[in-house]
Amino acid sequence: MNAPLIDPFARAISYLRVSVTDRCDFRCVYCMSENMTFLPKKDLLTLEELDRLCSAFVRLGVKKLRITGGEPLVRRDILTFFRAMGRHLDSGALDELTLTTNGSQLEKYATDLYAAGVRRINVSLDTLDEAKFARITRWGKLPQVLRGIDAAQAAGLRVKINTVALQGFNEDELFTLTDWCASRDMDLTFIEVMPMGDIGNEDRIGQYWSLKDLRARLAQRGTLTDLPDRTGGPARYVRVDATGQKIGFITPLSHNFCESCNRVRITCTGEIYTCLGQEGHSDLRAPLRGSEADHDLETAIRAAIALKPKGHDFDYSRQKVDGQVSRHMSHTGG
Ligand code: SF4
Repeated sequence: MNAPLIDPFARAISYLRVSVTDRCDFRCVYCMSENMTFLPKKDLLTLEELDRLCSAFVRLGVKKLRITGGEPLVRRDILTFFRAMGRHLDSGALDELTLTTNGSQLEKYATDLYAAGVRRINVSLDTLDEAKFARITRWGKLPQVLRGIDAAQAAGLRVKINTVALQGFNEDELFTLTDWCASRDMDLTFIEVMPMGDIGNEDRIGQYWSLKDLRARLAQRGTLTDLPDRTGGPARYVRVDATGQKIGFITPLSHNFCESCNRVRITCTGEIYTCLGQEGHSDLRAPLRGSEADHDLETAIRAAIALKPKGHDFDYSRQKVDGQVSRHMSHTGG
């Protein structure tokens, strides 16, 4: 039963991204409305269910586990879950336990995360300007996030910054952000979002900014060398020759990574999505709740992986553009 998860296109599934909550203490304009209605608690997987689910995937060959949200660190007792996943690092079954966060709770949790075995984290941060930060996150406070990043680095966590590229919003901060990351020895990844003109969000800030243009501007300032790094995902990396800094570019809708796609995603309600750009998904909560043994769960996981599509359909995805797609892209970064 423990044969590794291989999809119909011979891709081994080794990377699992799990959302542990739909809640967040920010209300980023490209992600949420100001008055969000969140899911009822009974719909969410409990921490014990998340443990069973993730442990099943680890047994079936997942080597890298990324915890996402919403904001994962606002989930109550989430440290218990991180500590529980740490046992898979200790046993050698799991290579990496990591998270994507908005940074607001890092001051409180950085040391505990390190102790649980986390070594690298991604922090989503779109601007270093306090007023702009307040505008785009609505509820966020930049100094709190910066203190969180300080705490993370002090605790020994390697920090990567994820920045959504928004024309007319953070275009003027391209070099400020780049230099700030370099000065703190943090990698930086820019994320391209869908054109956002038609999502009907009255708080719309910024416009689609193509990473081709962003990259060209960086290249005007100094030579960039393409790096061969492949993560099985949509990120491509360059090195800034003058400083050695590594910069990533995520264009989630490009097709060129599908052949090597090694990942699946699970929502906080236990749905598995096997492709970023397709709506197809399967339910893992019912088999989790239906039996205390993991047989049905593993069967359901295998059935879902057997349906993983070859790749996503760019045009299909484009028609789906709305706030949700933007959130998916911007927050998870593919
Ligand atoms: S983008 Fe991230 S930080 Fe902003 S509201 Fe969404 S989940 Fe929260």
